[in-house]
Amino acid sequence: MQASVASSRGLENVARVALAYFVLYSIGDALAAWHAVDGVDFKLWNAAPAMSLALLVRFGVRWWPAVFAAPLAAGFLHGATIEGWVWIAPRAFAEGSSVLIAAILISAKDRSVDFAPLRTVSTFFVAAAVAAGGIALVRLCEVLIAAPSETAALAVAGRIFVANLTAILCFSPILMFYDFAPTRVLRWPLISYETVMQIAALGAIVWEVFGRFANAEVHFFYVLFLPLAWITTRHGQRGAAIALAFVFLSAVVSDWLLIHTLRAGTELQLRLIVLAVTALLLGTMVSERRRSQGQVQAQQTELTHLQRLNIGSEMASALAHELSQPLTAAMNYTLAALRMIKAPDPDLERAAEVLSKGISQVEAAGQTVHGLREFMQKSELRLSLSHIDETVKRAFHLVSAEADAAHIDLRAVGLSALPPVYVDQVRIVQVLVNLLRNAVQAISEAKMASGAITVSGMDKGDLIEISVADTGPGIAAEVMERLFLPFVSTKASGMGLGLAISKSILESHEGDLQAVALPQGACFKLTLPRSSAEIRDA
Ligand code: ADP
Repeated sequence: MQASVASSRGLENVARVALAYFVLYSIGDALAAWHAVDGVDFKLWNAAPAMSLALLVRFGVRWWPAVFAAPLAAGFLHGATIEGWVWIAPRAFAEGSSVLIAAILISAKDRSVDFAPLRTVSTFFVAAAVAAGGIALVRLCEVLIAAPSETAALAVAGRIFVANLTAILCFSPILMFYDFAPTRVLRWPLISYETVMQIAALGAIVWEVFGRFANAEVHFFYVLFLPLAWITTRHGQRGAAIALAFVFLSAVVSDWLLIHTLRAGTELQLRLIVLAVTALLLGTMVSERRRSQGQVQAQQTELTHLQRLNIGSEMASALAHELSQPLTAAMNYTLAALRMIKAPDPDLERAAEVLSKGISQVEAAGQTVHGLREFMQKSELRLSLSHIDETVKRAFHLVSAEADAAHIDLRAVGLSALPPVYVDQVRIVQVLVNLLRNAVQAISEAKMASGAITVSGMDKGDLIEISVADTGPGIAAEVMERLFLPFVSTKASGMGLGLAISKSILESHEGDLQAVALPQGACFKLTLPRSSAEIRDA
């Protein structure tokens, strides 16, 4: 039963991919403007082969039949005549096999979702040339068979090569390397002020370049490098891929609206090739650098976690040692007293003496525990006037690598309006990091593809309340009651100390920490007294 559900889902996916590919292919094929050179017509802006390459790289070379079938289907859609098929069939074969070879070259290299390393990108350049070369070669044979002079044949083949290379370099990266699930597309920081500026700059310059694109020369093309460099340095490979696809589509639209000569079209395409290679190389380097920085940060985090674990285990063993001595002594005194009481001739006075010694041992153990609590709560707070939004920013910075890796958005809402508070900022950051890290771990352990953690603030008169809410699975029922007790954890490697320490830090600030179950996720509410802030402020 389960197998049949899985296989029907698999079939559904195959049907979805096939449909999307054939629709995109036909659109690309239909939008490509026709141009004729020396009696041979070809499509100057044909992105269809670029889509075939993306299909094979993304979903595997086992999709090869689709790649051979798509050009035939497009020919059928255009109502080709019987004579037309004489050319359509070999062209479809040439396109399918060239693209297949290119895809095999790229697929042999490593890449992960949303990122291709420099080696893979270099192979992509070679593969693009192979695919474009294969398509051009068949057209060259076609022209030679039709028998015009050899020089014209070479010129036609050259233009076809350039046209296909441009489309593949500009259009396939976005389809090939990136995930288009809505949660991931929305993660691209479209809303940030800088991104809006980048889109505006790119749009304005594209408008200027392609709007004024005259036939004699390609005006101001070099200005396009500016927004491309800006976007690429900020958004890496993903930014480069999106911007290149946009520039390519703008060129197609401008060719439809303004109808250029073929020579101007090829000239523009040569420039686009240079732009694409530059942007993809730069984008890849930026992404690679970010990734290695992320890895260093992740290692650092791991190290801090290990240190925390070490401190935790050391504390636990020290505590066990400290407690075991008085408790063993107390046990021995109690046993001795019991023996005396049970003796045929009990010495009650002596037994009471021994028992009182046992009581003092238990008291000593109690003092050790008490001392530890005092140490946790009162150990020198370094109070200073702090802004909550600053404090939250510092905490976000510390967990951003972990959150990014798990595709979790960190959001801050309504914090700047809160009054400053007198707190030990380092301790409050420690509390926030604990809560944020718990939320990140909860979301990723639940195998959720993405999530969000929102830190919001509220001024409640004599209290300032900060909520840390996540979209994770929520708090497990079995720990809910004992959440703030030490050593309570549902994690295999968890010490279960984070929330206990966090609560005692807040209590030492005369505040509190509470957990609230949300319909979807968990929420921790921190309170800090406002009065203490104002008294100290005065
Ligand atoms: P640890 O992280 O070492 O387990 P904590 O005291 O920080 O110790 O957390 C105790 C337990 O509370 C965790 O093991 C987890 O089960 C639960 N918990 C804490 N935060 C969350 C959260 N945001 N979502 C779900 N469960 C949580």
